[in-house]
Amino acid sequence: MNCFNHPDKPAIGTCKACSKGLCMECATDLGHGLACKGIHETEVNNLNMIVSKSAEIYSAAPKNTMIAPFFYLFMGLVFAGFGYFSMGGVTDLPFVMGIGFIVFGIVVFVRNRAIFGVKKNK
Ligand SMILES: [Zn+2]
Ligand SMILES: [Zn+2]
Repeated sequence: MNCFNHPDKPAIGTCKACSKGLCMECATDLGHGLACKGIHETEVNNLNMIVSKSAEIYSAAPKNTMIAPFFYLFMGLVFAGFGYFSMGGVTDLPFVMGIGFIVFGIVVFVRNRAIFGVKKNK
């Protein structure tokens, strides 16, 4: 492929915005890709920003973010159920601990959602 503007010169790459072939003279290296010098620099910069932003959002959401709260909720239910059915009362320690786990799970869940939501809206 040759340069779109200079058919006699070989292209060193293509513009990320319009995919035209560019020679050394016509291309601007923006770090993440080439752009038509003075024409598509802004477009490609915006494209790069969107790409790096979505990568940031993806990395800000580790897979265990939503697993931990459910683990606490599950533990809470096990403890509360055990306390209620086996120990025969809601004032026993296992039941109280179970409620504690459930409350903690909800708190972690809400907090994780809040953190993730803020990063998403940025
Ligand atoms: Zn272009
Ligand atoms: Zn050229």
